[in-house]
Amino acid sequence: MKRCTSCKNGVLKSGFIEELFRAYTCSSCEGNWILIEDYLSWKIQNPEYKFSEDVSNLNDVIAEDTKRAILCPVSGSIMQKIKIIASSEHRIDYSTVVGGVWLDKGEWDLLKLEGLAGSLNFLVTHEWQKKIRESKAHETFSERYRSKFGDELYGKVKEVRKWLYEEAQRIDILAYLNAEDPYSAER
Ligand SMILES: [Zn+2]
Repeated sequence: MKRCTSCKNGVLKSGFIEELFRAYTCSSCEGNWILIEDYLSWKIQNPEYKFSEDVSNLNDVIAEDTKRAILCPVSGSIMQKIKIIASSEHRIDYSTVVGGVWLDKGEWDLLKLEGLAGSLNFLVTHEWQKKIRESKAHETFSERYRSKFGDELYGKVKEVRKWLYEEAQRIDILAYLNAEDPYSAER
């Protein structure tokens, strides 16, 4: 039996998450070690399965988020911290070497709440991680403009921009707006 690399107290016991797919649960901290391979082979057999998003005890979902580096329980290498959604700083641990995910206690419920429990294999992909970074960048820009213009003006500017970009003659309109004196031949 493997020792838990997160709390270093318990051992990882083989079992099933929601009696569906294999996971190894720590006898002490109740974290879960899931091999993407196990998850995927279950998923292939149950492609239509939908996880419930209303976790019964919603207020009790306190997902722990270990900030320090955790070692992969199989390979012993440092696991990568990966975000699951752009709007939260919460990160889960992923062993790129083995293809396994470490979920702290409560993190499985968190994934369910976010409607991501059925996409665990996708969360660890470059594609998903890239998407998170992009929407994060988008948010940052949006916030920057908002704080520069203020809420009201930002709303107005966005409206004008939307209108302008639907206009076929937008280049000429922009040139007209930009020119100090649009009625002079000189620029
Ligand atoms: Zn543990």
